[in-house]
Amino acid sequence: MSHNFLCPQCRNYLNVGENIIFSTRNKSGKEGIIMLHPQLGDYTIIKHPTFEISKGDLVDFFCPYCNKKLISERNANLAKVLMLDEKNVEYEIHFSRIAGQHSTYKIIGESVEIFGEDASAYFDFLNRGLL
Ligand SMILES: [Zn+2]
Repeated sequence: MSHNFLCPQCRNYLNVGENIIFSTRNKSGKEGIIMLHPQLGDYTIIKHPTFEISKGDLVDFFCPYCNKKLISERNANLAKVLMLDEKNVEYEIHFSRIAGQHSTYKIIGESVEIFGEDASAYFDFLNRGLL
């Protein structure tokens, strides 16, 4: 059974099929839907070809239900959602909002699991926030 992803604000499901669905805004203020892979560490992105995002751009992520900005309180470069595993254990998932930066953190209490080859970019925030 696959994991579920929730908006931290309204707790509606963000995952449909094999995608996590976000309303987003690119660097020039244009809105678009971005779908991310639910497997942590898989950085496949699905979007409309006319919705332009370049490597290094900071992307704003919003909940498609309540339109709240999905931003990490730990670092403004990270977005945050909640994940429920098959036992309904709840984790915080923080991931980089910078296009092409592969940094993802799965956090429960003081335990952190990291994903992505750029995860070390935010080790400072982890140390400050959790220790
Ligand atoms: Zn929401």
